[in-house]
Amino acid sequence: MRTCSFVLCLLVVALVACETTQPVSPPPAALPASPSPGVSLTADPYTQSRKEMVVSQIQQRGVSASDVLEAMNAVPRHLFVPTDYLDQAYADHPLPIGYGQTISQPYIVALMTEKIQVKRGDQVLEIGAGSGYQAAVLAQLGAEVYSVEIIPELAQAADKRLKQLGYAVTVKQGDGYLGWEEHAPYDAILVTAAPDHVPQPLVKQLRDGGRLVIPIGPQGGFQTLWQFTRQGDDLKAIDLGGVLFVPLVREK
Ligand code: SAH
Repeated sequence: MRTCSFVLCLLVVALVACETTQPVSPPPAALPASPSPGVSLTADPYTQSRKEMVVSQIQQRGVSASDVLEAMNAVPRHLFVPTDYLDQAYADHPLPIGYGQTISQPYIVALMTEKIQVKRGDQVLEIGAGSGYQAAVLAQLGAEVYSVEIIPELAQAADKRLKQLGYAVTVKQGDGYLGWEEHAPYDAILVTAAPDHVPQPLVKQLRDGGRLVIPIGPQGGFQTLWQFTRQGDDLKAIDLGGVLFVPLVREK
């Protein structure tokens, strides 16, 4: 734990390469446009797989916040993965969602969710909506979620899926490096693509005391997952270990 100024110089990338999310290259795969009619969010054919996922992949690795475990148990992850990968929806790894992007490994979603410490009613910004799964988990915790996605097709599909499932998430297409000023300040910001430095617009849009959870590292290499807490003009930083996310790309 240490305190550092806004201009963070993250030279040393400590690798604890145990839990990683990995980029998977195309081909794009078809995502289910909508949940099957009659699907219930509490009892579906995957209820047992989801319970096992929560216990063996998440709880046993140290995520203990009961509200996070409940949310991971409640959100139907199989409705966020391409139909071609349905049988792996609850497996212990990331999955391709098309356009060279991935839905993160369940453990990483749970860990990041725990580390931003979301409470009911919090205003939360996510960068990198992807499939919309992480945003759904945040909304399941009672947060009001705003999510920015740079790939128009993914933004549109995530928005549609989240609306159909009834989650309190607003998605827009854009460059998340810039945040989403309109709804700032945020109680928490979660970034699911990796830049090589802390985007200052995100820090500015975080309220005092707010948390920013973000992977930072060189393009094409491992990154460090950081939990930053804003304390006035400073950021308190905690290293959460080595990860591998897709890079945060900038809009030209
Ligand atoms: N949170 C997602 C996983 C995201 S993968 C889920 O739960 O499925 C990372 C996502 O970040 C990709 O969809 C990628 O297109 C997006 N991304 C990359 N750079 C971005 C940027 N500058 N702004 C917004 N989204 C970005």
